[in-house]
Amino acid sequence: MNPPKDARIDMPAESIPRKWYNFAADLPEPLEPMLNPKTREPIRKEDMEALFCKEIIKQEFSLERHVDIPAEVRDNYVTLCRPTPLQRAYHLERELGTPAKIFFKREDIGPLGSHKGNSALAQAYYNAKAGMEALTTETGAGQWGSALALACKIFGLGCTVFMVRNSYEAKPYRKTVMGIYGADVHSSPSKATEYGKRVLAENPDTNGSLGIAISEACELAAGNPKVKYALGSVLNHVMLHQTVIGLETIEQMKAADIVPDKAIACVGGGSNFAGFCFPMMREYGRDCQFIAAESSATPSLTKGERRYDYGDTGCMTPMMMMYTMGHEFMPSGIHAGGLRYHGMSPLVSEAYRHGMCSAVAYDQTETFEAGMMFANAEGIIPAPESCHAIKAAIDCALAAKRESREETIVFNLSGHGLIDLYGYQQYMDGKL
Ligand SMILES: *Cc1c(COP(=O)(O)O)cnc(C)c1O
Repeated sequence: MNPPKDARIDMPAESIPRKWYNFAADLPEPLEPMLNPKTREPIRKEDMEALFCKEIIKQEFSLERHVDIPAEVRDNYVTLCRPTPLQRAYHLERELGTPAKIFFKREDIGPLGSHKGNSALAQAYYNAKAGMEALTTETGAGQWGSALALACKIFGLGCTVFMVRNSYEAKPYRKTVMGIYGADVHSSPSKATEYGKRVLAENPDTNGSLGIAISEACELAAGNPKVKYALGSVLNHVMLHQTVIGLETIEQMKAADIVPDKAIACVGGGSNFAGFCFPMMREYGRDCQFIAAESSATPSLTKGERRYDYGDTGCMTPMMMMYTMGHEFMPSGIHAGGLRYHGMSPLVSEAYRHGMCSAVAYDQTETFEAGMMFANAEGIIPAPESCHAIKAAIDCALAAKRESREETIVFNLSGHGLIDLYGYQQYMDGKL
């Protein structure tokens, strides 16, 4: 028997999208401006030049609906195994006994094992083209740091990564991956920055946080005109770059006559959700329900407050209007390091405020349980972050079963969990 046409939908390399989709062009209301952290006045493009190159700043403020993907970035999307397949979770459907069809977009494949490379490549490319020598960044679980390290290697830039201490200790192999790609990795808070030294002096036993690591990376970039900062999520230009995921998914669904009723992704800073869902919001509008799955350890959408806040703990980044737990929020040391960010992308925050998507929050144990079920059904060990999307997809499929309703669920498998085995072991040992 031949596999059915919707078992796995592949596309040839030449069908990688030529343009990203900019959701800012289709917002019901314009975004509130970012504020200069010192003056609290709307930020000017020049104010951002200490941290970002001009092309990135232009994209951050852009209201153009479609933005060209540079040829050099498109070529390297092939290196990251784009276009990634859209696959049907037949075994999981059978295991759940649901009439729902479940599809997942495979951002877990490729050398990096997560979606983060989609923006890392673009950011490294624009900075290299602008004549920069190196990039600095933060990383939580390490996926973003690994992605930026490889992208910098490809485009000939140096790379310094501040890795949140509790991940640095729990995920030593991520550090090795970054080291293989030539990056310089510090456990954050570190002694490499003034801010890091201050935090260490006040609280030597801190777990660290993304907010602290961002402050350290910004401090280093601000001190050298040839060094810029790169952020792995939250900002508008990162959401833009990630839309390659959703644009491919739409083409794949069209090729297999799939029309989604529900689209799901996990949310930390919002980039894989934005990348997966924004293009579909434009394509399907309210005919499809969009669900953001967050961690109950940092429930910025379901429990946070919408207000201006800093992107980092040291109050160095521009202030953004977003759903936030507060920039001093210290999340517990959950394994889904990528979901421990205190704020939410301003664009995703707006989609949520306007009712274009809903949100659910899950605790760690129930998401690992969902991840285990998925691994046993499909053979793929998902990233702890992605387990949140899987949990939401399973809940939807079970609701469809209770109501004997056919529906089509698509979710984004943002990454694999092969370097997160410590978390799985703890789950299996009953230690979570
Ligand atoms: C970073 C990361 C996330 C969370 O970040 P978003 O910007 O919300 O996408 C989710 N899944 C994986 C695999 C990640 O690496």
